[in-house]
Amino acid sequence: EHGDDVELAVNGLGKRFGGITAVDGASFAVESGSMTGLIGPNGAGKSTTFNCITGIHQPDAGTVAFQGQDITGINPYECADYGLVRTFQIAREMANMTVLENLMLPAKHQRGEALWRSVMPFARREVAQQERELLERVWDVLEFFEIEHIAEEKAGTLSGGQRKLLEMSRALMTDPEMLLLDEPFAGVNPTLEKKLLEHIHELRADGYTFLIVEHDMDLIMDNCEHVIVMHQGSVLAEGVPGQITSNERVIEAYLGG
Ligand code: ADP
Ligand code: MG
Repeated sequence: EHGDDVELAVNGLGKRFGGITAVDGASFAVESGSMTGLIGPNGAGKSTTFNCITGIHQPDAGTVAFQGQDITGINPYECADYGLVRTFQIAREMANMTVLENLMLPAKHQRGEALWRSVMPFARREVAQQERELLERVWDVLEFFEIEHIAEEKAGTLSGGQRKLLEMSRALMTDPEMLLLDEPFAGVNPTLEKKLLEHIHELRADGYTFLIVEHDMDLIMDNCEHVIVMHQGSVLAEGVPGQITSNERVIEAYLGG
């Protein structure tokens, strides 16, 4: 049913934690340039699926392919190098760092080698140039999200909505082609939610692909052209929003828990 324009293909994905089967043979595809929603009741395995795709967890079964290349089991940094990232909640240890410092971090990880070379005098100028370019990208991203004014604020003092913008900004710093967003609107007020959605649509118009986990069904139905429903670790239904909202198995899964 999908053409050559598949960005992400997940096949028979499985992940167990001890006796718990979190993901149980999940298979789905995300089309290039699409905004695809991934929904399902609490505990359906959505976050674990994201973690298996992006290398946070090693899947026990199945394969993950990004732009036609097998990326099953690669680590998160390799995954970002391919152009696939997921957003992360700002960890507690980052709370004391400014927004600017938070944004410098992910790119620095990728440039570990450059940092090492900075101890050699002849390489210093090159490193300084890279730092300048990195900083330029930081400001581009801050400008895009219209949050330049919070650049020097500590991440721990941000509002829920600002924090979500920082999480998205961090993901964008790795220069991805596809973003996996896990509940990007949680704790965001309606005004900022609208703004964040506008930014996502704007990025999408630029060619980025999005896979979004969100519990607000209406939001997914209004903004995604394709919806995947997970239940008990596998895909229960897939289709355009209209097909999903009228699907009896989906309604049952949500009501039955
Ligand atoms: P969702 O994001 O759809 O709410 P999760 O992927 O977070 O679902 O969780 C799926 C199941 O796996 C749940 O039963 C959850 O408790 C379990 N689970 C998730 N992560 C872990 C973990 N690190 N260790 C043990 N169990 C986990
Ligand atoms: Mg989750």
